Amino acid sequence: MKTNRQPPQPATLAAQGLGWTDAATGAVVLPIQPATTYIRDPDNQYRRGRNYARADNPGYDQPQALLTALEGGAASLVFSSGMAAATTLFRALPVGAHMVAPLVMYHSLRRWIAAYAADGHIAADFVDTTSLDALRAAVAPGRTRLVWIETPANPLWSVTDIAGAAEIAHRASALLAVDSTVASPILTRPIEFGADIVMHSATKYLNGHSDVIAGTLTSARDDELWQKLVAGRSSGGAILGSLEAYLLLRGMRTLPLRVERACRSAQLVAEAMAKHPNVAEVLYPGLPSHPGHAVAARQMTGGFGGMLSIRVKGGEAAAIATAARVEIWKRATSLGGVESLMEHRASIEGPGTPVPSDLLRLSVGIEDPQDLIDDLDAALTG
Ligand code: PLP
Repeated sequence: MKTNRQPPQPATLAAQGLGWTDAATGAVVLPIQPATTYIRDPDNQYRRGRNYARADNPGYDQPQALLTALEGGAASLVFSSGMAAATTLFRALPVGAHMVAPLVMYHSLRRWIAAYAADGHIAADFVDTTSLDALRAAVAPGRTRLVWIETPANPLWSVTDIAGAAEIAHRASALLAVDSTVASPILTRPIEFGADIVMHSATKYLNGHSDVIAGTLTSARDDELWQKLVAGRSSGGAILGSLEAYLLLRGMRTLPLRVERACRSAQLVAEAMAKHPNVAEVLYPGLPSHPGHAVAARQMTGGFGGMLSIRVKGGEAAAIATAARVEIWKRATSLGGVESLMEHRASIEGPGTPVPSDLLRLSVGIEDPQDLIDDLDAALTG
């Protein structure tokens, strides 16, 4: 019989963890394997494919396969943190290679790139990647090896056109890598827009419960660079623990639900804050007033993410006082968990940050949205 059945959707793939079951017991959840080493066959072979847990871990297979399916890539790797994932890619660049990165991006990564370049390993230029003209001017054909973008980018939620950036990078024979932590594969699949590598701080939405530090890379191709990254994780040792890999997969199984809820609530919070008399500006790609709204609408499907920022009237002191008064929102760094977080961002980024001092970064969780709005209103009103 002919069937018109479509391939399973992300919600189905995630909920069932691709439908994997344990071959030995039939369990619908795979066991945690803590072993560091594996038996060699009597004839000196490792036919089952594993020998030592720094190179590989059976607990990585399912989250990596699920992420690869969600991103539409060829292969994925989990790492001990988002920083470890990104820096494994940067360390794979040849000495002296030129890379371009955004002016507005996750601050620790920006500092890492700047220090790595200052030490002479690579050359790096930071530009406003939301302007394709600025990006084009910064990319040098034959010299630039990597264009790194983050979209939407911390903490102004600046939006970079992934397809436009991919075209610029590829025309110069460079690769495009995207920090897609904030969008998650539920809202944006950068490989569909031409990206070569996608990175996540899996600490955020992929895990979603503020109890695992992890990172991932996904590649559009299993090629020479990818094999270098596989070797880089193994030899560099930036590996995820077995329990953390299990928890990450457990979180990923509810990713579509959590992201859907966070997007819906963030849109409501952004719209309420846009009308608030004590808010000077709301930065959220889901608002038509945001400079990245049109591009975000093209490359984000199903919502504009759970992250927004507000600029509080009255400057830094008023922003910090607002944060001091919240009761439901938690004053903490990080993002993408089930609980809503608020952070005075300039305080954590420190001197030299491009972040305005009156800005509060909001990570919208999955609580009742009206509770979140009421708590913000009370805190802003004082
Ligand atoms: N990229 C983004 C957008 C982030 O927000 C973070 C952490 O906050 C990172 C990368 C680094 O990830 P991790 O903290 O998992 O090392």
